[in-house]
Amino acid sequence: MLNIILFGPPGSGKGTQAKLLEKRFNLVHISTGDLFRYEIGHHTPLGQKAKSYIDKGLLVPDEVTIGMLQNKVEKHSDAAGFIFDGFPRTLPQAEALDAFLAQKHSQIDGLLMLEVDDDEILKRILNRGKTSGRSDDNNEAIIRNRIKVFNEQTAPIFDYYAQKNKSFKINGIGSIEEIADRLAQKVRELSEETTT
Ligand code: AMP
Repeated sequence: MLNIILFGPPGSGKGTQAKLLEKRFNLVHISTGDLFRYEIGHHTPLGQKAKSYIDKGLLVPDEVTIGMLQNKVEKHSDAAGFIFDGFPRTLPQAEALDAFLAQKHSQIDGLLMLEVDDDEILKRILNRGKTSGRSDDNNEAIIRNRIKVFNEQTAPIFDYYAQKNKSFKINGIGSIEEIADRLAQKVRELSEETTT
């Protein structure tokens, strides 16, 4: 299996790039943000709970998020591997993911961090908000809160995997194709390492 974490602040292009990598490498893309939006759209209790956090730019509690992620992985028992997009976002989520994959005799092979500066992020998210219909994409204060939450709670995950020599930085500025090529090159290297 090849398991990749696509990492980076909100608006760094994780969703767009994960979809391209999914096709190119035949991996299953799991976005916890998309899973929450599906639950919200279907008015489920999980969705209602998640919405109260998402609308404020806060993280949904770990116990809800980890269970939902594991259920989704279990549904793809025949997958060649996964691209995790927007997960893990806290250290307990990273530890839970590692333990969960270890039970399956698998592991995270690499974390690819898309590097994009704060001004560019704000611009991209406000632009996306014009068409995404996402309540958390329209308000500058909420977007700034999401960036703050990323820096405080999520960024340490880079170091967590760096200690295992698994974290890599990718320049997240450029055209979608340029960034996709940079990511694909790294994924190819990682997949060669797992097969040798
Ligand atoms: P995203 O689509 O990845 O930007 O996620 C949108 C929102 O969903 C985030 O701002 C969080 O409120 C929530 N969310 C998504 N993934 C997670 C996660 N792994 N842990 C906690 N909250 C999450």
